[in-house]
Amino acid sequence: MKKLVIFFLAFLFFNLKNTNAETIYNGTLIDAHSQVGILIKDEEVSKEINDNDVYLTLLSMRGKHENATKRYKSIKKQTQGKVRYLISTKLKGFARKKRDANKAISGIKELKRQAINSKINYVGFGEIIVQHAPHDHEKLKYEGINLNLKSYRIKKAIDIVFEDDVPIILHVELNDYEEDSKKILDQLVEIGNEHPDKNFLLMHMAQIELKEAKFIFKNTKNVHFITSHSDPYRAKNEKRKRLGKAQTGWITLFNKKENLKKKWKNLMNENPHRFVFAIDNVFDHHWKKNYKERVYFWRKALGSLNKKTASLIACGNANTYFKLEIQCK
Ligand SMILES: [Zn+2]
Repeated sequence: MKKLVIFFLAFLFFNLKNTNAETIYNGTLIDAHSQVGILIKDEEVSKEINDNDVYLTLLSMRGKHENATKRYKSIKKQTQGKVRYLISTKLKGFARKKRDANKAISGIKELKRQAINSKINYVGFGEIIVQHAPHDHEKLKYEGINLNLKSYRIKKAIDIVFEDDVPIILHVELNDYEEDSKKILDQLVEIGNEHPDKNFLLMHMAQIELKEAKFIFKNTKNVHFITSHSDPYRAKNEKRKRLGKAQTGWITLFNKKENLKKKWKNLMNENPHRFVFAIDNVFDHHWKKNYKERVYFWRKALGSLNKKTASLIACGNANTYFKLEIQCK
């Protein structure tokens, strides 16, 4: 009897401890897509990377194409190797609709040559902008673009990425271009099934709705989601922007208590290979202001998932899809 009581008390204590303590994912974290532009210095980005507990950041460069590899090398040195290179697809005006498509395409090829000549062991290409709402912001003046996977410049860009054994990262905005979302979804299913040996990663959750995500999972094996720009900070920030000055369609995976919404949590646990963690810092304030906070939101969110799911989304999936050959701990 005494033994039983002790066992019962131990059981109770163990369970109380588990429900009270907030579980934080403490394993390896890979940011699978972030960007460095002209508004921030190499030293500043390096400092932020060094101050945060993100093990590895896949970086692509914005701004002047001449400096891309040089800047990357400088950041790599200053972070002691905590970054890997993604060749940018947008430096030569790729997402500017008035820019000649062939010139934009040769710009990507040139950046690839630059990476090879600089002996950079790149792990892939940065996001290909398929759709992007107009911006009227002090940091980005932009007229917007609404293409699809059959558009000439998109097909050409994807062909360049296909030449390497790397994932194809696509930026589509299913909310901001709601009227085209069915078409884009069908095209994603088509391209995924036509190329079963490739992985397609949709940036910023593609601004997708739950039922559309389920549609993708049901109809493809190799179209996955990158979690960038779906955290509570981003959602708060976006509300202020709902004046037609930038994208308004970002989705948030989090509830008001800043935990993962149950429906998304379930979807992640049921499809642990279909999500890849990324922060996607773009502007200087992303790096300098809320980076730590957003990493914390995600460590908490990952902590609420099944252990195996958390480890895959945080590290394992990026490790496999980008062939990073690191140890996920
Ligand atoms: Zn993007």
